[in-house]
Amino acid sequence: MSDDNSEDLGAGEFGPRWSVETLHNGYRQALEIADMLYDSETDHQRIRVFQSAKFGRVLTLDDVVQTTEADEFIYHEMLTHPALLAHGAAKRVLIVGGGDGGMLREVLKHPGVEHVTMVEIDAGVVEFSKRYLPSLSDGAFEDARLNLVIADGADFMKSSADSFDVVIIDSTDPIGPGETLFTDSFYAHAKARLTPSGVLVTQNGVPFLQSDELVGTLSAFKALFSDWTCYLATVPTYVGGPMAFGWASMDPAVRRVSDMLLTQRFKAAHLSTRYYTPEVHKAAFALPGYVQKLLP
Ligand code: SAM
Repeated sequence: MSDDNSEDLGAGEFGPRWSVETLHNGYRQALEIADMLYDSETDHQRIRVFQSAKFGRVLTLDDVVQTTEADEFIYHEMLTHPALLAHGAAKRVLIVGGGDGGMLREVLKHPGVEHVTMVEIDAGVVEFSKRYLPSLSDGAFEDARLNLVIADGADFMKSSADSFDVVIIDSTDPIGPGETLFTDSFYAHAKARLTPSGVLVTQNGVPFLQSDELVGTLSAFKALFSDWTCYLATVPTYVGGPMAFGWASMDPAVRRVSDMLLTQRFKAAHLSTRYYTPEVHKAAFALPGYVQKLLP
């Protein structure tokens, strides 16, 4: 239904004032562009940042919404804090992707984290995020604990000899450069990078519209890890309902951390969050029937 001040949109004609995401067959998400701030093609993808009335600044890569100022806190808090607080003593963290800096910002909130390696394939995403989306990284790129590596995350995972307590895959969807981050061999290499109680967490899209992505990841996790599952959070601009985050570890005890210990750790870390709470953390692992049915 169009309101008074929106242009009359034909079935396929959104026009230049709209950023149209066609990630899902037969389904489009259109965000009105109030002001185009950045629009450039790197070797890897088309990067656009625009001001939108509803969501603040919006980052798209190949026209797929990556993050928005309005709802990024949900995604970045929920892909970071569950693993770090369940682990309880994470010192070394690896982020693959994450070029906008939002995940890095949340990881660095943890006083116990001593070292973060961030492997981002496209330096262009980092550079313009600092300039056009400064609220996402919020100074995180200047933190002395950061080791920024510009490389393909799959190559890094295969060749690195480092070990990490938490590995976060903050990638685009499995199209274009992100595709290599959803393979069985990538997850096998990620397992080799984990410390004995280490945790791997992954962004796995919206299962209502992208169930294959989640099934593929969890099938690989089932073959590789002692403990695996997924958990959910709803990010408004990742359309189609709750999005799934993959969870994998060789230590089942990590995920089963008690409510009391989780709350103690949350308070001790003095984290300022707008979505994450220990109760939300636990509830996120309660899967509705249609997601449970996807578990391999
Ligand atoms: N929140 C977003 C989502 O859920 O789709 C992801 C945000 S972040 C901008 C995604 C990042 O992954 C981008 O900066 C992109 O350049 C990076 N990326 C994609 N493929 C990659 C690869 N193979 N290795 C490292 N980084 C990659």
